[in-house]
Amino acid sequence: MIGAYVLGGLPEDQRTGLLAHMDGCPGCRADAAELGKVARALETVDPERPAAEAPPPHLYRAVFSRIEAEGLHAVRSRRRIRVAGLVAAAALLIVVAALTFRSGGEVIDFASVPRGVVASAVLDETSAGMEVHLEVEGLEPGTYGVWMEGYGGDRLPAGTFEVADAGVVEGDFLAGWRRDECRALGVTRLGGEDVLVQELPHVSG
Ligand SMILES: [Zn+2]
Repeated sequence: MIGAYVLGGLPEDQRTGLLAHMDGCPGCRADAAELGKVARALETVDPERPAAEAPPPHLYRAVFSRIEAEGLHAVRSRRRIRVAGLVAAAALLIVVAALTFRSGGEVIDFASVPRGVVASAVLDETSAGMEVHLEVEGLEPGTYGVWMEGYGGDRLPAGTFEVADAGVVEGDFLAGWRRDECRALGVTRLGGEDVLVQELPHVSG
C-alpha cells in the first residue's frame, strides 16, 4: 500500500488504516520516506518526452543486483517474522494451558447420577498424577471408593471416603496416572456397585 500512498493513489479508508499502522511501525515509515523521494522525482518526469539518452549499461546491473539483494532480504525478514509469530503463539498456548490446569482445573459434570444425588469433580494434573477434587451430596451412608479408569479398562483407586448421612462430602483424591491415560472417573460403593461413572473427554498426551 505504501507505493500507492506515496503516489497519492490510496483510497481514503485504506489511507487511514495505513497511517494508523505507520504510527507504530518505524519500518513502514522508513519505506514511505524512501519511496516518497522516488514519487517526488517522478513528478519531474515528462512521460511524453522520455530521456534522450539510453541509461548507461552499468546502471542496469547496479539496479538489478540491488533489487536481488533487497528481495533476498525481504524473504528473510518475512521468514523471521513468521518464526517470531509461531514462537509467540506457542508461548501463549503454554500460558493458557498452565492457567487452565492451575486455576480451577478441568470441571467434570456427572451426566447421570442416582436419584437425589448431586455430584461434581474438578481434575488437576499434578506431577504425582491426577488430583480429583470431588463434591457429592445425597449418597446413602457407607464407604465409597474413588477411581479412574484407563483405556485398557483397568481401574486405579484414588482413595476412599465415608458417608455418615446425606450431607455434603468434599474431598481430594489422587490417582497416579496422567490425564491422557484416563478414560473415566467414578465412585463405587465398597462391596456394592458403581454410583457415579463419567467418561472423560479424550486428551492426547
Ligand atoms: Zn509496518
